[in-house]
Amino acid sequence: TTHLVWLRNDLRINDNMALAAACRDSQAKVIALFIATPQQWQQHHMAPKQAAFIQQNLSLLQKSLAERGIPLHFHQCDDFAASIEYLAKFCQQQRVDALFYNYQYEINERERDAQAEKRLDEQGVVCQGFDDSLLLPPGSVQTGSNTMFKVFTPFSKAFVRRLHQGLPECHQAPKARDGAPISIEKKIPAFDYPCEAFDESLFPAGEEAALKQLRHFAKQAVQHYPDQRDLPAIDGTSRLSVYLTTGVLSPRQCLHRVLKEHPDALNEGKAFTWLNELIWREFYRHLMVAFPALCKHQPFVDWTRNVDWQRNDAHLTAWQQGKTGYPIVDAAMRQLNTLGWMHNRLRMITASFLVKDLLIDWREGERYFMQQLIDGDLAANNGGWQWAASTGTDAAPYFRIFNPTTQGERFDKQGEFIRQWLPELSDVPDSDIHQPQVWAQKNNKKLDYPAPIVEHKDARKKTLDAFERARSAA
Ligand code: FAD
Repeated sequence: TTHLVWLRNDLRINDNMALAAACRDSQAKVIALFIATPQQWQQHHMAPKQAAFIQQNLSLLQKSLAERGIPLHFHQCDDFAASIEYLAKFCQQQRVDALFYNYQYEINERERDAQAEKRLDEQGVVCQGFDDSLLLPPGSVQTGSNTMFKVFTPFSKAFVRRLHQGLPECHQAPKARDGAPISIEKKIPAFDYPCEAFDESLFPAGEEAALKQLRHFAKQAVQHYPDQRDLPAIDGTSRLSVYLTTGVLSPRQCLHRVLKEHPDALNEGKAFTWLNELIWREFYRHLMVAFPALCKHQPFVDWTRNVDWQRNDAHLTAWQQGKTGYPIVDAAMRQLNTLGWMHNRLRMITASFLVKDLLIDWREGERYFMQQLIDGDLAANNGGWQWAASTGTDAAPYFRIFNPTTQGERFDKQGEFIRQWLPELSDVPDSDIHQPQVWAQKNNKKLDYPAPIVEHKDARKKTLDAFERARSAA
């Protein structure tokens, strides 16, 4: 018999449920396939840095699969529809008996998988899907009345209770098959998609690098996470998001590694704060399955449809380029544009600024983030944007509006982070770093840095009015 593993967002051999299941029968011939779909990626605004990251990881995965006697085939076609055609043809050519794959939860991905299963079923191929990218399957953590939670804290509590009842297991990497290792016949070619170099010292490709980073973080930094996670100048977060997004690492590996180092982590130990972030990741994915409209640019809170967003291309461009005149916002956007990654606190601040200070539609920001982020992930990104815009589940109430200057003062007091990204402010003393133009004016200096494009106080008022009008119109 021939087993095919269709790889997508699960680019690893360790703890890969579909791969482990395909390899369980030691007599079966196991082959793997990855299908690149550049046009679809374009529609989903995949960042060129993420494409480059996937490409590098595929090459490494091809090697580790070959060592175990499993060939990784590669194909490139336009979109999901074409990928189904190819998959069906491939299964025929290779006389595949069973297909193994890990679920993706976005709406187009789910439709593709349903169609693929139908098609393969007609060909007599048995298909098996797995809830691999989550700790607990969507729909398995619900309220007493069997509905999805709309608020995070009770979800998290119920989630932890479920974990106490039984932890999801990690699956070992498959053993080498008969005839292993095999040689690589065709290397993974470049994608027909814009690829952009990323900082390989921050995001080294491959499972080994990801596991090393996880082990290091779980041993030490996870304990300081509650105190350091909000300070962008400090390397206080795990930087594992890109591995989780592309499936180079699984959330089960994260959970077990943390529990190994800190057995009390699920009992509100210090390491729990970090595990709770993994639960946020689960929350947004479970939500997306319960409310598929989230994949279709719909706000969760209906009346927020009526907000009269402002179209202002100059403001949008200033935000994108990090030229708003608010140093914490600008430094953050330059971090995003350069690294394809932004610190979580800054994602909240910049998102809030676009929506609540510029009154620009959150979907503009959501799209721009997706186009830049190496860790771009529909559920987390949409969740984060709808939270910041007060249009989502468990969102910040619309009248709670971040003051970008105060946020800067709180989380980057001395401007250490700001200075990393805005060299044009190097002469400004620490005490004035959050309002450099005020300092420049007072001291008769000329700065190569814009004045604030909006006055926060006025902008706040305008936004409150717009939200209140929208709410009363509903
Ligand atoms: P850590 O602080 O070490 O957290 C550990 C892991 O938990 C992360 O790697 C991530 O997988 C998960 N996580 C942490 N916070 C969140 C959260 N709020 N929601 C969901 N998962 C979370 N995360 C993405 O992975 N992809 C995105 O496209 C994305 N877009 C965002 C957009 C906005 C507006 C906001 C406010 C947040 C967004 N996040 C996104 C969540 C969060 O900012 C990143 O996961 C985090 O900054 C990644 O850095 P880290 O790996 O060091 O995180």
